[in-house]
Amino acid sequence: MANIAVIGTGYVGLVSGALFSDFGHTVVCVDNDEQKIDRLLNGEIPIYEPGLEPIVTNNVYYKRLRFTTDLKQAVGASDIIFIAVGTPPAHDGSVDMQYVLAAARGIAEHMDAYKVIVDKSTVPVGTGQRVRSEMQEVLDRRGVDISFDVVSNPEFLREGSAVQDFTHPDRVVIGTENEKALDIMKDVYRVLFLNETPFVETDIETAEMIKYASNAFLAMKITFINELANVCEKVGANVQKVAKAMGQDGRISPKFLHAGPGYGGSCFPKDTKALAEIARSCGEPMKLMDATVEANEKQKLRMVRKITGELGEDLHGKTIAILGITFKPKTDDMRDSPSLVILPELVKCGAKLRVTDPQGKKEGLWRFKDISENLTWCTDIYSAVEQSDATVILTEWHQFRAIDFTRYEALGAKKVLFDLRNIYRRDQMEQLGFVYHGVGV
Ligand code: NAD
Repeated sequence: MANIAVIGTGYVGLVSGALFSDFGHTVVCVDNDEQKIDRLLNGEIPIYEPGLEPIVTNNVYYKRLRFTTDLKQAVGASDIIFIAVGTPPAHDGSVDMQYVLAAARGIAEHMDAYKVIVDKSTVPVGTGQRVRSEMQEVLDRRGVDISFDVVSNPEFLREGSAVQDFTHPDRVVIGTENEKALDIMKDVYRVLFLNETPFVETDIETAEMIKYASNAFLAMKITFINELANVCEKVGANVQKVAKAMGQDGRISPKFLHAGPGYGGSCFPKDTKALAEIARSCGEPMKLMDATVEANEKQKLRMVRKITGELGEDLHGKTIAILGITFKPKTDDMRDSPSLVILPELVKCGAKLRVTDPQGKKEGLWRFKDISENLTWCTDIYSAVEQSDATVILTEWHQFRAIDFTRYEALGAKKVLFDLRNIYRRDQMEQLGFVYHGVGV
């Protein structure tokens, strides 16, 4: 079995490290965030990801998985080193590469034998070569002659179902020009290889592009149905039925055709902007990408207008219950969540908000600190809707799929529902006496 280091112990690094150890490899996860590593050393999982905790606990117990802030020791102990650090957007929409390049230089600073360096972070085309040359520069400065190979192995897991996605991927993409590195990577993924998971073997640049192309396409698909929903609202069509029938066409597939308040999360917003920027900078601008980014921003504001359209432009004196602030269910991640735009806009119009989210409060507390005076955190749905003028469902957590609406009267809550995830049916809500607003239905 292999000795693996994973640099960056976030949503991707921690899941990858834990599951590689579960495959039987010996794994050390490195992070320069001391607090994060301290929590892991104390048996705490710093992120909310269903099913991850027992895998971490079990593999730590069997000494296949450990955590450290000591990069030198981790590099020395491993033959294969995954870079899984963040690649956030820079101010101009391009990718901020400082974390990836710092990790690459750090590896070169400490390595003393052949290593395979695997880029798991989502990075622009050309990063593999850049990592190689930055590392070589460090080795030259050190005056040592040590060989290494660079591999691109983009990750496709989704937060909320990361364990299942990592162990049952649709495909594993391995980008390298080197046979030895390819064989080593196949050994790392041996368990999946034996399970007949499709493997895509390609050059580094193609592997890097596959990740951006996949995310950008999915974001575009969501944006298509969101814009179509807006048209459906105007012409009296039902976007859910349109999407269902569209999805029955095998060429289209029903996934990512759910109209809503706009995509969010740590990947789609930054990856669409990055692809748009990559395309622009090589002189081949992708109009579809620019339009997707712009339409998604508009969609979030459109949700605010939907609410003010019913409650009035001036929301002073109005209390709105907000159900869900994370960008999707089963995660505590709020990066680029539509709530980050919608909640401050509602407060700007004068509203007081009563907010509940099964996992979002910890991050929400600091993300919404500027509007905290107008925001009350509630422990559950019913305390959030108490005395409210309207309810807004922003995230489709399971808990919000079975609301007991018969309690509204006793709670002094007005029967006005903005169902921005189309969980409920208009006819049923209207029968219960609600004013119902969905998205395109
Ligand atoms: P994250 O922010 O959760 O984690 C990144 C971690 O890297 C942090 O803990 C940070 O402290 C650490 N780090 C940064 N620089 C470091 C260094 N020099 N040494 C050690 N640790 C360092 O990020 P994430 O969501 O896990 O994403 C990581 C990459 O994977 C990104 O490129 C992202 O686009 C990609 N990706 C993310 C997802 C997802 O769902 N989150 C899915 C697929 C791909």
